[in-house]
Amino acid sequence: MGRTEKRKQWKTVADAVRERDGNVCCVCGQPHVKLNVHHLIPREVKEYWLEPMNLISVCPRHHKYSYTESFHKAPFWGVIYLQYYRPEQYKWVIDTIKGMMNAKTDIINYRSET
Ligand SMILES: [Zn+2]
Repeated sequence: MGRTEKRKQWKTVADAVRERDGNVCCVCGQPHVKLNVHHLIPREVKEYWLEPMNLISVCPRHHKYSYTESFHKAPFWGVIYLQYYRPEQYKWVIDTIKGMMNAKTDIINYRSET
């Protein structure tokens, strides 16, 4: 798949996720000209790159910039946010990560075997 094709695929899914989330930031409820779509499990994990359960619409502040309330700079906050406000997505993420751990994918490759 070429770069252009991938970009098109991403745009289609991201637009659908924004639509699902009412075209507002899930955290503050504000619309934004550049409403971001955040990957809960990183986009580099290709299996879930386009999975809507792995995606959430957020404004730039709640995506990347706030040190107290953003998925990138305050990851623990992000986990608690999901647990309280998006319980179905929270469950999906937890179950998926557990599955990855059980499959011994690279998320736990750092673990000592001794
Ligand atoms: Zn926001």
